[in-house]
Amino acid sequence: MTFSLRPTYDEPRLAGLVAALRDYLDGELADYERERGITHTSRLTRADLEPVWRRSRELGFYGIHLPEEFGGQALSYTELAALKEEIGASGRVLGHCVLGDMGGPLRAGDILRHATEHQLDKYLLPLVRGERACCFSLTEADAGSDVRSMRTTAVRDGDGYRITGHKVFSSAGPFADFAIVVARMADGGGDGDTKPSFSAFLIDLDSPGCRVLDGATPMSGEHIESDIVLQDCFVPAANLLGQEGEGMRIALGRVTTNRLLHCPTVLGATRRALDLTLDRTRHRKVAGGQPLLALQSIQHKVADMATEFYAARSMTYAALAALDSGADVRTEAFMCKLFVAESAFRILDEAVQIHGKEGLTQGNEVEYLFRKVRMFRVLTGTSEIQKNGIAKGLAFLT
Ligand SMILES: Cc1cc2nc3c(=O)[nH]c(=O)nc-3n(C[C@H](O)[C@H](O)[C@H](O)COP(=O)(O)OP(=O)(O)OC[C@H]3O[C@@H](n4cnc5c(N)ncnc54)[C@H](O)[C@@H]3O)c2cc1C
Repeated sequence: MTFSLRPTYDEPRLAGLVAALRDYLDGELADYERERGITHTSRLTRADLEPVWRRSRELGFYGIHLPEEFGGQALSYTELAALKEEIGASGRVLGHCVLGDMGGPLRAGDILRHATEHQLDKYLLPLVRGERACCFSLTEADAGSDVRSMRTTAVRDGDGYRITGHKVFSSAGPFADFAIVVARMADGGGDGDTKPSFSAFLIDLDSPGCRVLDGATPMSGEHIESDIVLQDCFVPAANLLGQEGEGMRIALGRVTTNRLLHCPTVLGATRRALDLTLDRTRHRKVAGGQPLLALQSIQHKVADMATEFYAARSMTYAALAALDSGADVRTEAFMCKLFVAESAFRILDEAVQIHGKEGLTQGNEVEYLFRKVRMFRVLTGTSEIQKNGIAKGLAFLT
């Protein structure tokens, strides 16, 4: 893999998809955002998002990774990653609506595999068509990295369950029709088993006993988080995903894949920051009227930034290629998530530094990207948790 801020692909299908995606992102979607006055500080509504879900579906991007029977093109992980990277690099506010990250098929993840016919018809096929949307609710105020300490509890009641609990940081909650909620079974594993047992449920957000509250606003400034508050909320047995007790496996299923697939989005944002920074160093004049890039100290900074980006990108695509060939890349996925997050943070910090006061000014894209990328050291598993996973993997290697 060579270094490039605008990668090209030899494989004709991927080359065609990337070209079509770039056209859409830079053309129609950019126009849509401009016409509606959508910026990174906008409070987005479902009315802003839904037309983009539908249009992206018409163009074949929404759910493109899914098998053909769900209207997708059965992309390899490497192909999906390349598209996700383009979206991250595009700077589009609504980029997360194009492949289905914001409430769509990518947020539902592997759930499709566990769905019954009823669940497919009522929830997941409408989701794939961009007609319904979901959020994923695992985290609670006192249960983050240690999700098994969650307090949300499901009690069997007739032909269903009563669920009580308070989930926080459910991304896409403000736009969602239903949530994928993981709850602790009130009677442990059943059969007198005292080990905690967890189940996953599809919960309509307009069910009696369910409230969707404005969630905390993270440092990115986006209003895309909700709290899901459940008080004796009845959920029919038909909405149980998989079997009782399989909730954590379903929720965390394909974690290796998901962990790797978060990396290209961040690589894309980093690529965008590098691009903006190089542009800035060429045009910003300093002492004696020379451009910033003429200064050796600045040259060294951009050299370090580009090198870290190349390393992060190379390892991510190497791991993705191994995953596509069927290899077990558990440890490598931890390594990629760790290195992509940490290197992106260092790169964005230097990008802000090189932009000077502009990089510290709200409304400047680099300032936004710095805040956005900083979150990735915590989201989808903190850097410390990745290191725990790597160390565990190394112990197995010896
Ligand atoms: C913007 C945003 C969006 C999110 N979206 C969702 C979502 O859609 N759905 C959802 O369910 N959740 C979501 N989350 C929650 C996210 O997954 C958690 O924030 C994350 O798992 C970390 O949990 P925590 O914040 O409670 O940190 P904590 O678990 O409290 O950790 C605090 C610190 O302690 C360290 N630490 C904790 N345990 C260990 C350990 N065993 N070893 C070493 N260090 C440790 C951590 O690395 C961290 O530095 C989101 C969070 C944010 C900020």
